[in-house]
Amino acid sequence: MTPADSLRALLDGPDAEIRNTVRAWLSEPGNAAVVDLPREQHRAQVLAWAKELAQAGGTAIGYPVEYGGEGEVGRSIAAFETLAFGDLSLLVKCGVQFGLFGGAVLHLGTAKHHQRHLRAIARLELPGCFAMTETDHGSNVQALGTTATYDHEAGEFVVNTPDAGARKDYIGNAARDGRMAAVFAQLIVGGEARGVHALLVPLRDDDGNPLRGVEIEDCGPKLGLDGVDNGRIAFHDVRVPRDALLDRYAQVREDGTYFSPIENPTKRFFVMLGTLIQGRVSICGASITASKVALDLAVRHALARRQFGPPGGDEVLLMDYRTHQRRLLPALATTYGLHFAQERLVARLHEVFTADDVPDRKRRELETLAAGLKAVASWHATETIQSCREACGGAGYLRVNRFAALKADTDVFTTFEGDNTVLLQLAAKNLLTDHRDQFGELDPLGVATFFAGQVIGTIAERTAVRKVLTGLAADLLPGRDDGGELLDREVQLRLLRWRQEHILQGVARRLKGGIDSGREPFDVLLDCQDHVVSAARAWVDLVVLEAFAAAVERCDDPGLRPILDRLCSLYALSRVEAERGWYQEHGRLTAAHSKAAIKAVNALCAALRPDAGLLVEGFGVPAPAQSAAPALEHAA
Ligand SMILES: Cc1cc2nc3c(=O)[nH]c(=O)nc-3n(C[C@H](O)[C@H](O)[C@H](O)COP(=O)(O)OP(=O)(O)OC[C@H]3O[C@@H](n4cnc5c(N)ncnc54)[C@H](O)[C@@H]3O)c2cc1C
Repeated sequence: MTPADSLRALLDGPDAEIRNTVRAWLSEPGNAAVVDLPREQHRAQVLAWAKELAQAGGTAIGYPVEYGGEGEVGRSIAAFETLAFGDLSLLVKCGVQFGLFGGAVLHLGTAKHHQRHLRAIARLELPGCFAMTETDHGSNVQALGTTATYDHEAGEFVVNTPDAGARKDYIGNAARDGRMAAVFAQLIVGGEARGVHALLVPLRDDDGNPLRGVEIEDCGPKLGLDGVDNGRIAFHDVRVPRDALLDRYAQVREDGTYFSPIENPTKRFFVMLGTLIQGRVSICGASITASKVALDLAVRHALARRQFGPPGGDEVLLMDYRTHQRRLLPALATTYGLHFAQERLVARLHEVFTADDVPDRKRRELETLAAGLKAVASWHATETIQSCREACGGAGYLRVNRFAALKADTDVFTTFEGDNTVLLQLAAKNLLTDHRDQFGELDPLGVATFFAGQVIGTIAERTAVRKVLTGLAADLLPGRDDGGELLDREVQLRLLRWRQEHILQGVARRLKGGIDSGREPFDVLLDCQDHVVSAARAWVDLVVLEAFAAAVERCDDPGLRPILDRLCSLYALSRVEAERGWYQEHGRLTAAHSKAAIKAVNALCAALRPDAGLLVEGFGVPAPAQSAAPALEHAA
């Protein structure tokens, strides 16, 4: 086994087989990401690819065995992550059809819906939409305006878009291909509003014409994802039968009464949304894959292209410049760290979605991790793709070299499947309590009402832990200014842990102080919102380091382990370096130690420079994705 094979085996983990199957498909002629097709042709190509994958059975891996799937949630995410090496419109089209639409039917529906639709969805014989967002409301789903009013006499729901702001917007698969939609609407039964529920509404007939009462519009040109047909949908007295309601968590009975086993409407709403978390986890993985593609291109370029050099000597490889190393190697280290953290996230997702009985605590932990990691991974992709584009100079700007599509197509990863800033607030809220069931409100701004009560107890319990951590941190770098201890993994973990605990403490104190002084909880939260978001961000840094450190520990290849160990230190210390002002403000790093952190990052970059090629080779970016870069020097 070559070192690159060994590294790839470590990264691919137990799902290597499905990852290699997807890589092989992407390497086949005609399956590489398209570079410059007119929009309608791109959409047609994406649909044809998606159908091919569906007919081959590759899109039902996560569905139950009885509906032609394999019941392998983790493996289905591994396949999706790998598909992100290719055309990202195809990825998102698949995400909408098999993940979002299929996921809503699977997780919110019951046996009758599964029997009727799941096979057809998995084979793309029933193209569908996930119609949640409206023009006036995206992040705030509880405020949606679409209504589904039960007409007991007819035994039907009447679906309506009351005003232009309530039309469904940005909906994937709507503009061209969708035949049905899982529509999220305010359910009204017997005149009583029951909150947001999902129901299946047919959109088009067999010839592709919108059905009576359904108005569909194309969203038009977008920043990227040209191959996905996003559209707007409005409903005018559209009638669907009673069993169109996806009724796993709430039913309308034959006698016209509403019933839900979850009495608290807010809790019910969040339980329903919680079942749809797979899309968020998938986009997190796709963000990491996109970062790998960008780094693969930029590092290979840097190992082939020479510019300038000492007087009279040869020109020097870009990779030998310190600034170039600093642009690429910390991003490479972070990508590895996120990869290992994503592995943990997917393992938890698989566990939660395949176990019979999962405690609420486990579901909440999954939700927190998915929210935090998705936000950080998608922001990381955006930054990394830009750095890598610049690192390739003018060649990086040519569409043929993929950065244009990578930038444009991944940009929206920071927004859909939950806006990142909103997600970090959700993660912070979960971190601040273990008693979610007692909340009145869970929307990010309503969190303040909760902070007034429960959090305080939780924080008091944490105080003991904090004292220990404070002590450790104070002694963190005893008496030495050379920063040698910074390479100690325990020291790195303590630094990140101390920061996370300290920020969380600070947030709780400020919230409690504000509320105790009689101010409106909403106003108090507004004042602390940036602090709340930092708490979640700091927590993700720690989670990533923990996952990375554990991966180094389990690497039993004696050649690879020291490389991964250095890479892990580079991740940790580049986070410390980025926050060194904060650490100094809080008396946790002296000026000398802060400088030592900068020196250590430089030294690690130099030490890892010989392994840069190996580290991107381990990603296993399939050949067409690389050879689609003929203007970059390595791609002969
Ligand atoms: C290409 C594309 C495809 C999509 N596909 C689908 C789909 O198939 N189905 C579907 O249902 N939806 C889809 N969406 C919609 C997407 O999920 C929403 O755009 C997203 O949830 C954000 O909602 P919004 O656009 O209303 O933004 P807003 O919620 O209005 O957010 C705008 C800004 O305000 C900030 N903000 C909002 N609330 C707060 C707060 N409480 N505190 C601080 N800041 C806040 C956000 O951080 C953000 O920067 C798609 C969108 C796009 C662009």
